[in-house]
Amino acid sequence: MTQFVDVKNMTRWIHRDGVEPIMAGMVQYLEDDFLRWEKFDKVPRVASHTPFGVIELMPTSDHQEYAFKYVNGHPSNPARGFQTVTAFGMLADVDNGYPTFLAEMTLLTALRTAATSAMVAKRLARPDSTVMAMIGAGSQAEFQALAFRAVLGIDQLRVYDVAPEAVVKLRRNLEPLGFGILAADSTDEAIEGADVITTCTADKARNTILRSDQVGPGVHLNAVGGDCPGKTELEAAILDRGRVFVEYPEQTRIEGEIQQMAPDFPVVEFWKVLAGQEHARCSEGEITIFDSVGFAIADFSALRYLRDATAGTDMQARIDLVADPEDPKDLFSLINSLKPVG
Ligand code: NAD
Repeated sequence: MTQFVDVKNMTRWIHRDGVEPIMAGMVQYLEDDFLRWEKFDKVPRVASHTPFGVIELMPTSDHQEYAFKYVNGHPSNPARGFQTVTAFGMLADVDNGYPTFLAEMTLLTALRTAATSAMVAKRLARPDSTVMAMIGAGSQAEFQALAFRAVLGIDQLRVYDVAPEAVVKLRRNLEPLGFGILAADSTDEAIEGADVITTCTADKARNTILRSDQVGPGVHLNAVGGDCPGKTELEAAILDRGRVFVEYPEQTRIEGEIQQMAPDFPVVEFWKVLAGQEHARCSEGEITIFDSVGFAIADFSALRYLRDATAGTDMQARIDLVADPEDPKDLFSLINSLKPVG
């Protein structure tokens, strides 16, 4: 039998534990797995591009468990009443190959993306950071804000979105939770005095959400929205001004901000910072850039965390996903056993 967490039970879990404690717990799982980075099978995700968007499969394995996520990215979806990103995913036992755990991952992806951003910012942002600018206030935005408060204590937000209703939505969701929120009329206003700038917009285009002359010394950039070929947010000149930290270079060079740069553009693999093999922030004035695209190992961590946190509760259902005859050599017997009587 396979354990299953559906959307209803995912929301029950988030209510039970709270988004911020989940972020803190998930960061621990992420760090554990990023520190085992070299043990994992790694491959850039398998993407199917169409004029509508992209559908991707993201597999990985630590040779004990195997995981994959199915995820889409359709920037034109909200205008048609659908979400930009939806996902589900699975863990399997490498020993016999059977799936052990299946889960909705639309919410889980938002949690893991934000937890990954916060894990990285904890090492790269200035420790005295209190203000985050957010460019783009869509589905991921509240999760990003909550992760940064849980992990870095940031509770002052300066938010700009081309769609003013997105900022209204974000204020409605976050102000009751105690955030100070400034609704900015422009990117320039949003980034004024910000210690961290999160860009999280959706548009399948080479956009310039942020220009180099807008970025001052000491800022940490959390660039989340550029995660697909032909989809970027930062002016290329920004990338020359600071060190660029990535998840898996082979995938980020295809999908991230650095797709704008030469194939040998220098990057730092973030797991090496955790492992003490690369420096985190070197000086107060340094600009640090996390070119986030989302990598399979983070989904592996998120699935493990969800499974462990809900184990033994009625938030997990047992589902019959694998046809499993008593005699493993007689699959046909299952059809006979289900033959209608009479
Ligand atoms: P969404 O469609 O819900 O929100 C995007 C928001 O960006 C919208 O409110 C839109 O009005 C705003 N926007 C678009 N262009 C803008 C501009 N020029 N300036 C300011 N605001 C602008 O999408 P989402 O689910 O929040 O995802 C945002 C992006 O993050 C997508 O591109 C998605 O693919 C990406 N994403 C990345 C990861 C990762 O791991 N890096 C994970 C999940 C999603």
